[in-house]
Amino acid sequence: MEEQVIYHPDFLVIPEGGEKPYLVAYRCEKCGKLYLPKVNICLNCFSEDLVKQPLSGKGKVYSYTIQYTPQPGLKAPLTVGYVDLPEDLRVLAQIMAEPEQMKIGMDVEVTVGEIRKDADGKSMISYKFKPVE
Ligand SMILES: [Zn+2]
Repeated sequence: MEEQVIYHPDFLVIPEGGEKPYLVAYRCEKCGKLYLPKVNICLNCFSEDLVKQPLSGKGKVYSYTIQYTPQPGLKAPLTVGYVDLPEDLRVLAQIMAEPEQMKIGMDVEVTVGEIRKDADGKSMISYKFKPVE
């Protein structure tokens, strides 16, 4: 099997047994504000009590761009976009969709896959989004 490295284990959960992968935000226990990725101190109330909160895995494309120029380790065309999550968070991620499929506001969900190859040709695995079927 090809060698793989999994990235973002602090906020990406890949369940064993085939359930869907999901993202985890960090919620301030004092004021309720959510963060993704993790922060060590709440930027709203300065509390250090942050707890993990699993997210729904759903989202809507807020904006996107398509990169047509290949770079080392990255395939082209490559769709990258901001996804708005129902939990009022916005994340930047690769979106596994053909350029002609892409629409602002389209429904997407979290998935896991290769985001690029590293300098040694190893697969870098992390979260991505794909259109909801
Ligand atoms: Zn807070």
